[in-house]
Amino acid sequence: MDDGKREMTDKYGLVCAACGGPVTGSRCSRCPDALVRTEYWKSDFAPSDHPGIFRYLDWLPSSEAVETPIGPAVYRSERLAERLGLSRLYVAFNGYAPELEARNMTGSFKDFEALPTLLRFRDEAKTSIVVASAGNTARAFAYAGALLEFPVYLVVPEAMRSKLWIPIRPTEAIRLVVISGSHDYTAAIRFAALLTERLGLAPEGGARNVARRDGMGTSVLEFARVVGELPRHYVQAVGSGTGAIAAWEAAIRLIRSGRFGAILPTLHLAQNAPFTPIHDAWSAGTPIRPETDVPEQLARIRAIVADVLANRNPPYSIPGGVADALHATSGRTYAVTNAKIAAAQSLFEQSEGPPISPEAGAAVAALSEAAASGAVLHDESILLNITGNNDALLRRDYHLHPLEPWLHVASDQASEAGVDRLADRFRRP
Ligand SMILES: *Cc1c(COP(=O)(O)O)cnc(C)c1O
Repeated sequence: MDDGKREMTDKYGLVCAACGGPVTGSRCSRCPDALVRTEYWKSDFAPSDHPGIFRYLDWLPSSEAVETPIGPAVYRSERLAERLGLSRLYVAFNGYAPELEARNMTGSFKDFEALPTLLRFRDEAKTSIVVASAGNTARAFAYAGALLEFPVYLVVPEAMRSKLWIPIRPTEAIRLVVISGSHDYTAAIRFAALLTERLGLAPEGGARNVARRDGMGTSVLEFARVVGELPRHYVQAVGSGTGAIAAWEAAIRLIRSGRFGAILPTLHLAQNAPFTPIHDAWSAGTPIRPETDVPEQLARIRAIVADVLANRNPPYSIPGGVADALHATSGRTYAVTNAKIAAAQSLFEQSEGPPISPEAGAAVAALSEAAASGAVLHDESILLNITGNNDALLRRDYHLHPLEPWLHVASDQASEAGVDRLADRFRRP
């Protein structure tokens, strides 16, 4: 369905995060930069009997649920809490670790975004989706596409191929478009944009995709269900910051439901030094300028271990974006080194059991800094988002199938003329 034709469903409407007015299509006509949010007609917090993310179907923008174990696993930590001098630390384990009841089938919280997005696209009678991703997002959408038999065009630079696997047999629904010889995620994003502009394919939408944000917000909803309150603090490693915006929005929704007081959780957002654009912008009170000093930024990106956090152009200054979320919640940001991340990964594994990814390690390192500085206090409730552990335990329990290319695009064909020449291939159903 085209932009502008869709305004509301029997379940939710869209509102502008800046002016609060109703929105038709994907952007507010008065505030075109602002994020658009969902507003669900049902304002009660009433988790359903579905397992996983669809427990929160009332607050996800799709008409249907699917049976899936994918979802946040929130539990109270004892050993890590003790090591950090905290008494009410809760972990949302959002990778794969069945020993903690966590069964996210591509190993990260990107799994929360993909199914709601594809179900919403199906509701809107769209017939495919284009996703540009460097790894975790691509796996999550490939898995969801195979599960729902919904065509997903994944555009990836060749250098990222080794990260692309799923724990079920890949199907025809997965259309992997590999930019040959490319290391550059930006080239993949550009080619994906050309596919959507010139061929009219539907883009996934990134931070602007409400299904993605509402899916990611389920960690906070699960905390509210398990603990019966809102967390006082929320800790996460951020690249785009979409997950942090989602946590803030989920907390707003819970407060509006009337049963959770009025205090928003304080966001504690971690990045990996020396590449810390969100931390730098927040600390200096300035916007992010992705086009400044690109070679310098790329050198910094090469130096970090938590490479999923390497986003040069996060939705930071836009209304409803990361800066607004930090302002609204009296948030803080952290820059943690590779060495601190490695130490935090082992601390987590020793105290909680499962191995975690460097990105999740960055969150643990930030929490440990916050506990030491008094930014979080001993008795306050804390939700630590362990955003993933990739293939660490999935490889133990499943055969991981590599994704095979559906199309190779030479770097010099990733242009307007190149897209037009390839048009037939994409128009075939
Ligand atoms: C995507 C991702 C993040 C960062 O999330 P954003 O919403 O982009 O800020 C952190 N950790 C892992 C494991 C991820 O896959």
